[in-house]
Amino acid sequence: MTNPVDILLTNAIVLTMDEKLTKFEPGAVAIQGDTLVAVGLEVEIRSAYTAQETLDCGGKVLMPGLVNAHTHVPMTLLRGLADDLRLEVWLMGYMMPVEREFVSPDFVRLGTLLACVELIRSGVTCFADMYYFEEEVARATADAGLRAVCSQTVMKYPAPDAGFYEESLAAARDFISRWKGHPLIMPSVAPHSPYTCTAEILQATAQLAVEFDVPLHTHLAETALEEENSRNEHGMPVIPYVKKQNLFDAKVLAAHCVHVDDGEIYTLMHHKAGVAHNPSSNLKLASGFAPVRKMLDVGLNVGIGTDGPASNNDLDMFEEVRLAAFLAKVNTNDPTALPAPTALSMATRLGANALHMGSLIGSLEPGKRADLILVNISPLHNAPRFRRDPNGLYSQIVYAGKSTDVSDVMVNGRWLMRDRQLTTLAEADLLVQAAEYATQIDLFLIKREKSVLSKLIAIGGATETESFEVQAKVRITDTESVLSALKKPEIEILHERHYREFDAYFSFDDPKQGHLRYREDESINAKGEVSNVRYRLTLLGMAREGHFPSDVLLSRSRFIAPATHSLRFYREYFKPVTETSIEKVRLRWRILFQGTEFFINLDKVIDPDLGSFLEVKSRTWSQRDAEHKAQLTTELIRFLEASPEETVAQDYIEIVETR
Ligand SMILES: [Zn+2]
Repeated sequence: MTNPVDILLTNAIVLTMDEKLTKFEPGAVAIQGDTLVAVGLEVEIRSAYTAQETLDCGGKVLMPGLVNAHTHVPMTLLRGLADDLRLEVWLMGYMMPVEREFVSPDFVRLGTLLACVELIRSGVTCFADMYYFEEEVARATADAGLRAVCSQTVMKYPAPDAGFYEESLAAARDFISRWKGHPLIMPSVAPHSPYTCTAEILQATAQLAVEFDVPLHTHLAETALEEENSRNEHGMPVIPYVKKQNLFDAKVLAAHCVHVDDGEIYTLMHHKAGVAHNPSSNLKLASGFAPVRKMLDVGLNVGIGTDGPASNNDLDMFEEVRLAAFLAKVNTNDPTALPAPTALSMATRLGANALHMGSLIGSLEPGKRADLILVNISPLHNAPRFRRDPNGLYSQIVYAGKSTDVSDVMVNGRWLMRDRQLTTLAEADLLVQAAEYATQIDLFLIKREKSVLSKLIAIGGATETESFEVQAKVRITDTESVLSALKKPEIEILHERHYREFDAYFSFDDPKQGHLRYREDESINAKGEVSNVRYRLTLLGMAREGHFPSDVLLSRSRFIAPATHSLRFYREYFKPVTETSIEKVRLRWRILFQGTEFFINLDKVIDPDLGSFLEVKSRTWSQRDAEHKAQLTTELIRFLEASPEETVAQDYIEIVETR
């Protein structure tokens, strides 16, 4: 008496990837609906089950589908857009501005479908995604027939799908409540990272994940800079900081965890967090080496992810598994550190556990979902086969196997690829649509890269403002006469400041672009101590708007923004042709002279040694007002007993350049 099932897969080398790494050869699998009913030796399965459909696997390896533990699938449409940059420049300078401009539900759907083609073709049956408009990722993935953890991004910055974090949090709640219980999609929430989220966002997203009992997907401890900033800003490393925000109340899937110490690894273990190790991304962005061996030793569930196709640049898990094995070896100076069976376990069972989906997928065991692949292990690049070492099969797959060796893919009992033919997706149409997006994005970036101003606006943090100034700068030898003139009753001092200023001027090929100035302003208090430091970016236009008698200029300060990134960031992002540094001590007053407000700067330029300068400035908004203020400027300079005949160029950079 045999039991009827839907499908029998026979004549296979079955790698179950269960905890004991059980193998069956020749093996077989019985499938009923979406579920694996039996896995075992072919003779036993055949004698116990009869099926409507029996498929001879031709001696290929039959194993669980690979789990891509961390990715951003719609970014297939941004693949190769900007490479060989630091994470900060890549993310803030390119990815986020392009995403703000282009990412829409349509973009996300197309990008996801393209990714699904690539994932199915390379033997992935489940992935953990994090992006915007995540519902579109979920819908496209379900249409393709793949399984995924779909995590809606929440962060403190405006996102393509939300102006404020409250909006994206509400969208995440709505998405999760409607998709919870879907046979293929596990909805989830993704606070992007501790550095792009506030403490409040981390707490709120953790609560949401707990409320719906869904995973929480995030990036943790990816770079040394993140770790260093966390210590500086919060007084502790990343993992204790997020723990303090109750993040681990939720079922956490943490991507990267590159910069974690032993204590932090135990914290992750204690809270049953899953880790997604992303070898290609960590290598390409030079993020460092995750301590994978240590994590596995304490029993952490470490999966393997490709990360997004913009930082990899593909979704090939075969390549990723091999790199994971190699990286662990080179990182520990020990070729035994991460053997092939362990690497393949990370891409299957441990990855499923990291996604908190281990009870459903990750190994071929009765009761689990029928998510499986067939892999040809006898092409030329993988021949011959040795049978002496029981781990030889794992070595064949990890060290010599290629994604193109995957011939058949089944998810939830449904074939998505048969003999390399896709059953649910039309690849050619998708490629045509992708090319159209690429053309648009190219045009957008070509236009942006031509203008320093639009590059500045693209990284956000400020809006374009124009302020017109009437100004004059004169070289002086006697600062004492200016100081004593300022004490006369004709001048009312409103405000007084003492600064030390470090300026870096960026110059560009086209002089019409002007100069970009990065300024570090150290305020010096009465005791001579630095009381405050301010960082500002100013784009200085080269063009004079007007010229009055006595070399008084009308000029335009086109753009001022707080500098929230490092000087190095701006250097790598703007790629100036030359960079000039200037250091000076500045005494600054805001005064009233004949009823008009002026700024007076008394500067001593120390490096390079340019001497002392008196600068008089006033804001203006109309031509008549400008003429009036120009006249007053000349009078004020005379009053301060400096000679206006020695008027010099507008900014120190120009003095340096014309010396
Ligand atoms: Zn990522």
